[in-house]
Amino acid sequence: MAAVLDRAGAPGRRVALILVSHGHSDHLGAADRLAHETGAPVRRWGAGTNPLRDEELLPADGGGVRVLYTPGHAQDHVVFYWIGPAVLFSGDLLLGTGTVQVTPPGGSMQDYLRSLERVAALALTLIAPGHGPVIRDPRARIAEYLAHRRERERQIIEALAAGPRSAADLAEAIYAGLDPRLRRAAEGTVLAHLEKLVAEGRARRVGGRFAGA
Ligand SMILES: [Zn+2]
Repeated sequence: MAAVLDRAGAPGRRVALILVSHGHSDHLGAADRLAHETGAPVRRWGAGTNPLRDEELLPADGGGVRVLYTPGHAQDHVVFYWIGPAVLFSGDLLLGTGTVQVTPPGGSMQDYLRSLERVAALALTLIAPGHGPVIRDPRARIAEYLAHRRERERQIIEALAAGPRSAADLAEAIYAGLDPRLRRAAEGTVLAHLEKLVAEGRARRVGGRFAGA
């Protein structure tokens, strides 16, 4: 927050608006304090007095900033597309390093992939993610993200062909040799893929387990 106030304190500058990508505490945490310090309003999806709307155009230099609703990592997730310089502020939709956590019930793999496809259609020069370094090869990185999830999905469909299995069992098989501390996260990701496949009629629930369609 000190860095933001420092930049905003330069001559002729001020914080006019505080935009929040989603309600996770590492993104929302300092918003109210920053608002208090600067007098600027906070805007986010589905909350507050003036919630953001999909496709809303926010006034800014360079043709404005377009709000895009991009659920998946979280139900209230939005990204901000600064039109002139073609920069995407991606929150937790795309990260500078590593993969994004998509875990039910807050997360939806179906929504997440749709959101990635949505930003894949934008002309972008760079992506400023919520965590990690700036992404300077936006097109390649988005394609990589999509390919990674499609590959996981393919592995899951393949594993289901052998008969009904639980999400935990599938995670064990797909993430072989996984650090036990990451097992829960892996299981959540597999469950997100399974829910997507069930919604698409490509898998079905059999008791507490899942089977191919
Ligand atoms: Zn988050």
